[in-house]
Amino acid sequence: MGEQTGDWYWSYHDYQPEQEPLREALCTLGNGSFATRGAAPESTAGETHYPGTYLAGGYNRAKSEIKGRVIENEDLVNLPNWLPLRLRFGDGDWLDLEQVELLDYRQTLAMRDGILLREMRIREPGGRETQLRQRRLVHMKDQHLAALETELTACNWSGSVEVVSALDGRVLNEGVERYRGLESEHLEPLASQPVDDDGIFLKMRTRQSRLEVALAARTRVYRGAQRLALDAHVECEPDQITQRFQLQLESNRPVTLEKLMALYSSRDTAITECGQEARSAIGPLPRFQALHESNALVWHQLWRRFDLEIDLRDEDGGRIASILRLHIFHLLVTASPPVMDLDVGVPARGLHGEAYRGHIFWDELFIFPTLDLRLPEITRSLLMYRYRRLGAAREAAQAAGFRGAMYPWQSGSNGREESQRLHLNPRSGRWTPDETRLQRHVNSAIAYNLWQYVETSGDNEFLSFYGAEMLLEIARFWASIARHNQELDRYEICGVVGPDEFHTGYPDREEPGLDNHAYTTLTATWVLWRALELPHYLPQERWSELTEQLHISADELQHWDNVSRKLRLCFHDDAIISQFEGFERLKELDWEAYRERYGDIQRLDRILEAEGDSPNHYKATKQADVLMLFYLFSTEALERLFARLGYAFDPEMIPRNIEYYSARTSHGSTLSRVVDAWVLARRDRPRSWSLFTQALESDVADIQGGTTSEGIHLGAMAGTVDLIQRCYAGIEVRDQRLWLNPVLPEELKRLRFRLRYRGQTIELEVSHDRVRLRAISPEADVIRLTTGSETVSLSAGETHEIKRGAGSLFVEPPSSKPLAANTSRSSKH
Ligand code: BGC
Repeated sequence: MGEQTGDWYWSYHDYQPEQEPLREALCTLGNGSFATRGAAPESTAGETHYPGTYLAGGYNRAKSEIKGRVIENEDLVNLPNWLPLRLRFGDGDWLDLEQVELLDYRQTLAMRDGILLREMRIREPGGRETQLRQRRLVHMKDQHLAALETELTACNWSGSVEVVSALDGRVLNEGVERYRGLESEHLEPLASQPVDDDGIFLKMRTRQSRLEVALAARTRVYRGAQRLALDAHVECEPDQITQRFQLQLESNRPVTLEKLMALYSSRDTAITECGQEARSAIGPLPRFQALHESNALVWHQLWRRFDLEIDLRDEDGGRIASILRLHIFHLLVTASPPVMDLDVGVPARGLHGEAYRGHIFWDELFIFPTLDLRLPEITRSLLMYRYRRLGAAREAAQAAGFRGAMYPWQSGSNGREESQRLHLNPRSGRWTPDETRLQRHVNSAIAYNLWQYVETSGDNEFLSFYGAEMLLEIARFWASIARHNQELDRYEICGVVGPDEFHTGYPDREEPGLDNHAYTTLTATWVLWRALELPHYLPQERWSELTEQLHISADELQHWDNVSRKLRLCFHDDAIISQFEGFERLKELDWEAYRERYGDIQRLDRILEAEGDSPNHYKATKQADVLMLFYLFSTEALERLFARLGYAFDPEMIPRNIEYYSARTSHGSTLSRVVDAWVLARRDRPRSWSLFTQALESDVADIQGGTTSEGIHLGAMAGTVDLIQRCYAGIEVRDQRLWLNPVLPEELKRLRFRLRYRGQTIELEVSHDRVRLRAISPEADVIRLTTGSETVSLSAGETHEIKRGAGSLFVEPPSSKPLAANTSRSSKH
């Protein structure tokens, strides 16, 4: 694969054009506010390269005509490219790695410092040898800045170099081949002009959302500390501005080119006009090295909070540790402190490409736990993105004939449903209806996420003023979508789609959607129950205010209570939880035959559609669906949920359902293996570890064959980190306590990391025979910690150590009442 790892480095030591799209995605730099793919500065968009810069929340809508139908999509817009830096040595051609001999090449993501390095030595056809060393950053503290440094050394020659540095607004959204039939032009030019004697400026606007984006860049050249005078010629075109100059290189005397860039948009706060801000920002900037140092400092601080130190038995351990760091790195590229001040959600594919158009899905469920336990303020901001779109969710519920709030499956700018209506099957070339927007379970994920955030951070103000309202409106939605079946005296949720996107309807029914979908039903039960318990968590005054504002009557609460006790689940084959009503009637798929015929059958839906068939006919799922229940809920919590609904739950059902469904899953979503690894952690550690290592490969090895180049899979990236931190380290937050019950796989010898729980920073070390916790925040309250059957209090400065056999650690947590009314007033304010 040409990749090389070291603790803090992710490196490629060769240049392979066909690998560039993947590497560009994996070498993306960003700060949560904007990100730039790791494309070479001399490259232009084409088969090999795809430079892309994306602003968090930078969406635009455009209409396209498909099959005679006009459809509108909202896309995360590819912004003007700030990277272009083209070089021509002597009378040679413009530098193009495919036209020169590469004597040496290395591209490295230096994760600890948050910097991308590129080093090479080239030989041109005439024998001229030149060394290039580039460093690039997107500043983690100053969210508007990015910089590129290029050091040039003529190794065996002296002569001139021609340099072109540009801001290129002639960009399209063309990063995803499947979308190429759709409108891809989202920008229109506003202004381009020089700034002082060495700066250039370009301002563009998105065509529909009228988002103004201004970029200013300054390119300077130095020999050592000395700045060289340049005679630059600037060419302004409406959508591109170019600066051109000549340099003299002397053999073995390096010169350094520094291109510093500021990006502002009309959505920024504390600005007058984005163009003016961008232009004035580049004036006082220091040299690259100073920007590098201030950026690295913030990255080091972030790593102190986010790093996972792991010791593995495996000789592959170094690679596993590096991949985990790479996953944390890309989580921070997408969701990091600058996000705290923005109205943005976390796109499922990061800010790394255009797949899924930068939309926000239920993947938050896999992404938030790592943020909750490290920098919960980021989760708070991402939850506020949802809160601000509560109005849109209410309107959507009403338009669909329901009450409460119905959040969209895919969310973008204003909270409208952004799921596409037609999907192109690249295998058949056909556009087919896309019914996946019926995934109403996203609502439960939002409620679950806000609850987890409050449990972990102790942020009761958030619950009071934002979270409770969302929870109540989502509960109201579930109560209103549930219809009473007189005959069974049960409530039914019909016409929905579950996490498994292969099943979108019944073969014999025209209307899309499925009935009594187990995961949807049980999470709806959880939401309703939680909402009913809210009075125990909120100050009385706030509860009264909310019920008045939302017109929640005692009768309505009674109805919710009733629904939460009577929702309908279906079972088959003696204790198999039916994914949805009628699942058992579907045909078995001949998995072996399909594997033999097609090899990779992850996207079985596309294979079957191309054959004129449909996965709706088969017991074949794209991803974990019923198994999501065991991922989200402990055995005790499930027992209580089932009991509330009046169904028997035997813990033995868990392994049986795992076997049943994992044998029928194609893992067509990268989230699927994360879930399977999780649910097997306490039952089959070797299998869990094997699935974990497969999940780790999702992006670095691009296991879906080409999807990573269109954007990373952030849910799987963060999900693998969470497998280590919460699943294998056995951390749970509930009942205002931290629970610890590690279950380290054999391969994992020792884990060390910091976590933040209710304002307390805890250093945690877990090995097979010992767990050690140290609370280090003097200002934080005492926390309660439960290990096995023992609950202790931990204050700042205290260390708690448990040895295997000495305490009751390493056993299943005892039954508690996470869902029962908690009468403690301690969490109130
Ligand atoms: C998965 C969804 C996921 C989405 C975005 C789809 O392929 O089926 O569960 O939310 O990708 O990551």
